[in-house]
Amino acid sequence: MEKKKLILDLDRTIITSGDYKLQNEFFRNLYGESEQVNRFIQNIGHYLDHYEYMFKNYTIEDLSHYLTTVTGLTVTKKIISDWLDLRWYETDYLEPGIIELLEYAKSKDIRIVVLTNWFLKCQKDRLAHKDLLKYFDDVIGGEMCLKPHREAYDMACGNFSRADCLVVGDNLYKDYLGPLIAGYDAVLYDQHDQEKGYVVKVKKIDEIKNML
Ligand SMILES: [Mg+2]
Repeated sequence: MEKKKLILDLDRTIITSGDYKLQNEFFRNLYGESEQVNRFIQNIGHYLDHYEYMFKNYTIEDLSHYLTTVTGLTVTKKIISDWLDLRWYETDYLEPGIIELLEYAKSKDIRIVVLTNWFLKCQKDRLAHKDLLKYFDDVIGGEMCLKPHREAYDMACGNFSRADCLVVGDNLYKDYLGPLIAGYDAVLYDQHDQEKGYVVKVKKIDEIKNML
């Protein structure tokens, strides 16, 4: 395809968080043990998904208001800040094959941009702990724009043409259907082979090398 720019998702594409124990302990320490807290902890991913469809970017203020409204818990701005400051990198691991892909793209002079739906400080910190920042021309975080809104892919694309870019990630809506509808080529990273049918996908991230 001769691509000039690779637009990569972060979580479960470059880095995966080994477990959510830190996060769960953090919220249990704050709110104590209750059904309401259990429900909150179990559904954080869903709450954030819904936020990302309704809002165009993350702000601590909007997230605080949103989580307080939908969960019934008081989630202050300070709580959000402390949550972001957890030592996420302690349980992070690299997706197998990601270094091979990054090295290959660099060797072909392909620009690499991280497009992630989470706060930049937290995400850059995680990339730095794995010594990955050197590979990326830019890291675009959730404060700037959110997938699957078209503006997110266009910001990552920058001055390149859409045809020059390839969007890759593990989420069907945010990393595959969203970019496709916005006019980009996209590949789903589906290591457990969960999506059937019409999706262009790879099971190993370094297979992306064949699509650049
Ligand atoms: Mg992801």
